[in-house]
Amino acid sequence: MLDHFNRKINYLRISVTDRCNLRCMYCLPEGKFHHKKHEDILRYEEIQEVVKVSVSLGIDKIRLTGGEPLVRKDIVQLVEMIAAVGGVKDIALTTNGIYLEEFAKQLAEAGLHRINISLDTLNPEKFALTTGGGDLEKVLKGIEAAKMAGLSPIKINCVIKTTEDEPDALAVKEYCIQNGLQARFIEEMNLKTGQFSVVHGGSGGDCKNCNRLRLTSDGKMKPCLFSDIEYDIRKYGIKEAMELAINAKPEKGTCSNNGDFYNIGG
Ligand code: SAM
Repeated sequence: MLDHFNRKINYLRISVTDRCNLRCMYCLPEGKFHHKKHEDILRYEEIQEVVKVSVSLGIDKIRLTGGEPLVRKDIVQLVEMIAAVGGVKDIALTTNGIYLEEFAKQLAEAGLHRINISLDTLNPEKFALTTGGGDLEKVLKGIEAAKMAGLSPIKINCVIKTTEDEPDALAVKEYCIQNGLQARFIEEMNLKTGQFSVVHGGSGGDCKNCNRLRLTSDGKMKPCLFSDIEYDIRKYGIKEAMELAINAKPEKGTCSNNGDFYNIGG
């Protein structure tokens, strides 16, 4: 489907959970955050239905994200269910990699094509500090497992403060070159206020070429990461919510005030 600015919308990012096994300093809002109620989280059958309707509206690229998608029970089964829909040319997943060693092979066999893994530093102490106790070794083993499983391409998402020349970013870049991985550098957004916005000069917010819709783990269809507009698929129905979201897609993102980044999936 084309939106009002002649952009072809063919990509849906689905957040499958608002829960995560890490506590990255830059990702969580200030103070207490409240997890969605279990009964509000979309069931796999509902997500599969969304994918079916999406395909009929021209979506051919799906990404699963979170929270951390690999903490959701039976995530491999969801990938199978999405692959079974047919018409999805590209199924991808974004993960912090902690559980990837266990899941990479099963995910690939279920129909996952490619994967993005978040990795900001190769320093184990710093990794543990910035992720709230994460084990870097597990992520590195997860990356190896993804390579062995034939997931391709493997992209590394590296959050930087301001420049790709920061020592941690340079080390990640070198590691990617040595291991045949693609590095992507994302400028850190300040989410502390519960508000996040397009980083000017940063890599986010390529609005002219935006082809995306986002589905939150509790069923809100969002036309833009940097906006509070959303349509509840349980209220409007899937097709209607998607059409409303496509029609409401702003020419340019501005900011979101709901502080819900960890639920939308970035
Ligand atoms: N748990 C998964 C992961 O770690 O990749 C998927 C969800 S996570 C929210 C998706 C991406 O958002 C990660 O690459 C993470 O580094 C990025 N991210 C989180 N907070 C950010 C921020 N404040 N600025 C820029 N990127 C951020």
